[in-house]
Amino acid sequence: MYTVTDPATGQLIEEIDNATDEEVRAAIERVGRGYRTWRDRPVAERSAIVARAADLFEERADELAAIMTLEMGKRINEGRGEVGIVVDIFRYYAERGPDLIADQPLAIRGGSAVIRKEPIGALLGVMPWNFPCYQVARFVAPNLVLGNTILLKHASICPRSALAIEKILHEAGVPGDVYVNIFASSRQVPSVLADPRIQGVSLTGSEQAGISVAAEAGRNLKRCVLELGGADPLLVLDTADLDETVQAVATARMRNCGQSCNAPKRIIVQSDLYAEFVDRFTKRVADYYVPGDPSDPAVKLPPLASVAAADEVAAQVARAVEQGATLRTGGRRGEGAYLEATVLTDVTPEMDAYREEIFGPVAVLFRAESDDHAIEIANDSPFGLGAAVFGTDPVRLRRAADRLEAGMVYFNKSGGSQADLPFGGIKRSGMGRELGPAGIEEFMNQKSIRL
Ligand code: NDP
Repeated sequence: MYTVTDPATGQLIEEIDNATDEEVRAAIERVGRGYRTWRDRPVAERSAIVARAADLFEERADELAAIMTLEMGKRINEGRGEVGIVVDIFRYYAERGPDLIADQPLAIRGGSAVIRKEPIGALLGVMPWNFPCYQVARFVAPNLVLGNTILLKHASICPRSALAIEKILHEAGVPGDVYVNIFASSRQVPSVLADPRIQGVSLTGSEQAGISVAAEAGRNLKRCVLELGGADPLLVLDTADLDETVQAVATARMRNCGQSCNAPKRIIVQSDLYAEFVDRFTKRVADYYVPGDPSDPAVKLPPLASVAAADEVAAQVARAVEQGATLRTGGRRGEGAYLEATVLTDVTPEMDAYREEIFGPVAVLFRAESDDHAIEIANDSPFGLGAAVFGTDPVRLRRAADRLEAGMVYFNKSGGSQADLPFGGIKRSGMGRELGPAGIEEFMNQKSIRL
């Protein structure tokens, strides 16, 4: 069942039945058929349609933001910001896509060759609820320009976002058999992957979902991109201005109510700054991130996306405290899916909170004795999505970047995402890349033609 439930109140607003198996089969048939003509449309036509989609997303930013606020509690301003990145992504691939998929001449021993960049077929997207528009955009925009077609299964708590996105794409000129939204259940995903017309799958979500989908993709020899969880480290090596750093770190951690795969979840602070950092950071979090109505632009802390998500995060905090962590502030559940912004310290390797991902407004602060110690703590994680390093010394920053086990490293900034910068992780954070030039290559046939 797909449902719309307001996380601010817990009130159920709409229920939509899952697609039947027959409807899933018909949807596969549509995107399979659509592929046969979409791949042959000139790339200039496909890009022009993707550019029109960018314009429509821009026009409907308010409407999309309101849907996200209702469905998953996103702050209204953050929703508008999310649509802004979506617009950038569609424009980036509309403009750069044709060059990125142009023939690439290659000098080889005894002659020459060309690498032709072709689509591979119909793809399945399995998308999460934390960025209902952005996550879809980074999979869909490059693949539409490349010539693949798309069957999209959105998160079961975001059906209105799913329908609004489909409507925009169709109005922009994406044919009805090139992009198809399907309210499939996760139990129906294996049968989609088994179908020969589906040539790949991209999933953003939890490790468990990633494991299931990767296993099915493997069984069926289908290409697979996985953007999974993260427990991103943020290292504070030294600082020109402690207040500015505290504010930047708190903003990055609390963005989207802490529900971003690449939010800094483990803040690792050099020992000479640690005590002062903990005090100021705790005060900032307690004073500034006061829970409230997500549709009020002045509110800084919305509810989590669902009551289940809030219960899960509150349980993780309670377990950490039970195991000996210090609760500096927060930790209490409110009505609906509200949870106070929380700061934990004194988390040791024996505790679950040391390694697990906490997908909510909870910062865990660690103390490091040196740069090497900070890097050691950072790398002592099953995840490897992003990492950030704050400091003023470029040599120490670069040295840390070289040694951090992560798919992405940011200096003096954390989290976020931009259309032209590849995004993705290593270790249990997944495989493959989205965005930038790399994002259009995942479901591409780089055909070698020996001339
Ligand atoms: P899920 O991973 O369960 O949901 C993400 C998407 O995957 C949804 O469309 C979901 O469908 C689908 N899905 C779930 N299980 C399967 C499966 N076995 N086969 C195929 N598709 C599946 O996320 P949750 O909502 O349960 O969130 C739990 C945790 O996941 C979070 O606490 C966080 O750690 C992580 N997460 C990470 C995200 C990221 O950006 N990397 C985004 C969201 C979650 P359906 O909704 O129908 O179950």
